[in-house]
Amino acid sequence: MTILFSNHTIKYEIESTIKLFIPAKRFNFLYNERNYDGDIIMTRIKTGKRFTYLYAYVRINNKIKRRAYHVLNEKIKTEKDLHEYNLCKLVYLCLIEITGITPKWGMLTGIRPVRKVIDLIEEGFSKAEVFAELKNKFLVSDEKLELAYKIAKIQTPLISNGDCKTVSLYVSIPFCPTRCSYCSFVSHSIEKTKKLIPDYIEYLCNELKMLGKMVDELGLRMDTIYIGGGTPTSVEAEDLQKVMECLSESFDISRVREYNVEAGRADTITFEKLRVIKEMGATRISVNPQTLNDDVLKVIGRNHTAKQTVDAYIMARNLGFDNINMDLIAGLPTETVESFKDTLDRVIALDPESITIHTLTIKRSSRLYSEGENHICNPATQALEYSMKVLTEKGYNPYYLYRQKNTVENLENTGYAKRGKESLYNIFIMDETQSILGAGCAASTKLIYPNGELIRIHNYKFPYEYINSFYKLMEKKSIESNAWKESIAMI
Ligand code: SF4
Repeated sequence: MTILFSNHTIKYEIESTIKLFIPAKRFNFLYNERNYDGDIIMTRIKTGKRFTYLYAYVRINNKIKRRAYHVLNEKIKTEKDLHEYNLCKLVYLCLIEITGITPKWGMLTGIRPVRKVIDLIEEGFSKAEVFAELKNKFLVSDEKLELAYKIAKIQTPLISNGDCKTVSLYVSIPFCPTRCSYCSFVSHSIEKTKKLIPDYIEYLCNELKMLGKMVDELGLRMDTIYIGGGTPTSVEAEDLQKVMECLSESFDISRVREYNVEAGRADTITFEKLRVIKEMGATRISVNPQTLNDDVLKVIGRNHTAKQTVDAYIMARNLGFDNINMDLIAGLPTETVESFKDTLDRVIALDPESITIHTLTIKRSSRLYSEGENHICNPATQALEYSMKVLTEKGYNPYYLYRQKNTVENLENTGYAKRGKESLYNIFIMDETQSILGAGCAASTKLIYPNGELIRIHNYKFPYEYINSFYKLMEKKSIESNAWKESIAMI
């Protein structure tokens, strides 16, 4: 597929719009070429004396659509934004006609549609005005507007209200027993990286101690903690204990409102690890089936059965965990709608406090991407519609939502929870109104300044880099966060 830009370079936004219809394809980008064959999406800007003309031309499988738009030159104030939006809209409308697909999120390509709704509510928009704004400008469907609005209303009393002295913490343990076929995270198979684990745990604890010192010095309050990965329970119970003991020694855990550990895959969960997690003070864990269909579990490369997941869940309950989340994925290869529904019904019967419904995302770095799209075959839309219906009937409300690029049918990931069991960390990580300190490899630190500005600092991606260049990384982090620390110390 050739994407041709004529007299402009608005690439990122147009590519994102095209991906709403044609995901996971490799595009060939050309600028100002005149001759082209085959499938093509061309956009052009031409400036005349009084008007500027925008064109889109789409040819796919010999079907052709054209659209044009013109605007008075004197009306163009912020040229880039205006042309960007209008060119994307022309391409979007051509692609609807050619493909017959009408994306439910309309032209919205961002990952945080709920934030857009909250912003409008904070500006004083009524529900009808919020709907009108997002419908007219971005062509979002009523169904998705209802979902985003419902979540915005649930989140509003929970989100951080600009208290810069309150922070959350993300701790990364980036190992997994095997790599799932759809995985694009920096997760490392435990067999290949086993020898790195002792050093990794040691350096991770060093970083946690440094962060603990900084939190003390700045008089910050630790609000929520999330130990994620990878699958943190991939490491031995003693290693988990070391990390969690270090957390207790470095931070005032007694004031933490939510302490999450992603137990994740059933093939890593043991009685001993759950006991450590409970005794060390975690208040919420995830036991993630993704699917309870054993055949699909094999296809996606997870070396465990549905029964193991159910057993792990029951073990956690028996140990006294009273806040358990379970993740499912809609759109997994070879899974049918019926088998997804069966999984969801069985998960609901287990009665976890929250259930998160992800939609399969096929990132370039995943095995699934390289195996080709033919592997992906099932309608995620129906799975999500069923989830929404049955979960709300059973008392689970949608409370956080995010979108990712290259997601099957451009759908979303939605967390559902029983009242009062919404995960604060999940809301904060998407809402970006509370600073999040990141520790461990591939962890991101998001620092919010008192004026609302946000900076991100990224740790190295791979465990060997993190271990080998630890002090260099700490120095870099310290330099990059100095201005933020100064601004917080003044409050
Ligand atoms: S459990 Fe999660 S992080 Fe680990 S390989 Fe599977 S998708 Fe990746």
